[in-house]
Amino acid sequence: MSAPRVLSGIRPTGAGFQLGNYLGAVKHWAAMQDENECFYFLADLHTVIDLPEPAQLRTRTREATAELLAMGVDPQRSTVFVQSHVREHAELGWILGCLTGFGEASRMTQFKDKGAGSVGLFTYPVLQAADILMYQADAVPIGEDQRQHLELTRDLAQRFNSRYGDTFRLPGQYVAKAGERIKDLQDPTKKMSKSIGGNGTLWVLDEPKVLTKKIKSAVTDLGREVAYDVEGKPGISNLLTILSVATGKAVPELEAAYAGKGYGDFKGDVAEAVVELFAPVRERFTALVADPGYLDEVLLAGAARAREVAVDTMDKVRDRVGLLR
Ligand code: ATP
Ligand code: MG
Repeated sequence: MSAPRVLSGIRPTGAGFQLGNYLGAVKHWAAMQDENECFYFLADLHTVIDLPEPAQLRTRTREATAELLAMGVDPQRSTVFVQSHVREHAELGWILGCLTGFGEASRMTQFKDKGAGSVGLFTYPVLQAADILMYQADAVPIGEDQRQHLELTRDLAQRFNSRYGDTFRLPGQYVAKAGERIKDLQDPTKKMSKSIGGNGTLWVLDEPKVLTKKIKSAVTDLGREVAYDVEGKPGISNLLTILSVATGKAVPELEAAYAGKGYGDFKGDVAEAVVELFAPVRERFTALVADPGYLDEVLLAGAARAREVAVDTMDKVRDRVGLLR
């Protein structure tokens, strides 16, 4: 029996990765490496949607690789690659797009939330489905915000399989637990995102004093009770989630510990926990970016391994669809 396949990707956008990326996704990526065959990639094609400066996209793709390794992704155990290095992604994206209803794609909340955008933004989830199905993934560790896209992926796999014969493995449910959707510190009604940035975003590579300052000035609510999910307390609930996942302590335990203490002490402890969480990551990142040759080697080997699987899947897909060999 071979080990289950795991696949996930992340966009090299923003000024690096943010706390939500780590807690909602990459932390799980690292934890899954022992018992699974893992494929992790930098979604650079998905980043072109934002039309970044070319030099910035190149730099960010490289730095993002270093950040992943610094957060515990191990290229000895996992295949780490750049999406555009495996041309088959775009090809499968086209074919799956032909099986996707216009209305179905229009209903994706991420598309609706961002308002008017390009055709690339519209077809983003279809390319994401191609990424996942290409590797015949059993599990896809992604944040809760991506759940709808994973459901679309399963629908498309089923549709393809019933029309053309069994070809794609249906990926299992996402692994992120409820409550791991980290919110923006300045606007806790929105999820923390690389592309929002600003004082509400905690970058993994922020200096300790910057992290502390952002957490201490996080928007909280009237009152002084540290309580989770109380009406009108999205800011405090978010900080409780962060402290809980950073320390491994359950929320009710934390609520009890801060009873009668007020927000000041609480925020100080959240800051300390996040600083502690990221300090070793910063250190490893600094060492990794100082060695670009090593990062290139990792990505070259990763692309070669990823391509083996992708070519295999695409041979089947081409054949089933009726494309001439
Ligand atoms: P962007 O704003 O550029 O889309 P992002 O922060 O949303 O950036 P993505 O590259 O889209 O990051 O997503 C990478 C992974 O991080 C996905 O699995 C996503 O579900 C997860 N993720 C992103 N933001 C959060 C968050 N606030 N809480 C939990 N998980 C998150
Ligand atoms: Mg996103």
